Amino acid sequence: MTTLYCAECRSRFEPDDSHVWIQGERRSVDDRNQLEDFAMCPDCWADLTENWGEPV
Ligand SMILES: [Zn+2]
Repeated sequence: MTTLYCAECRSRFEPDDSHVWIQGERRSVDDRNQLEDFAMCPDCWADLTENWGEPV
């Protein structure tokens, strides 16, 4: 079974534990978009995004 690691605190969890997938997509004007995937535990996600604003 795959073990996932939190991108923030590096704690490990199994894929069937609660976790958050983050997909970072860089949108470039020249169409060279890039995707990066990260996993995070729900607590870190909540802490990190607490003060984030909505994009629109
Ligand atoms: Zn974490």
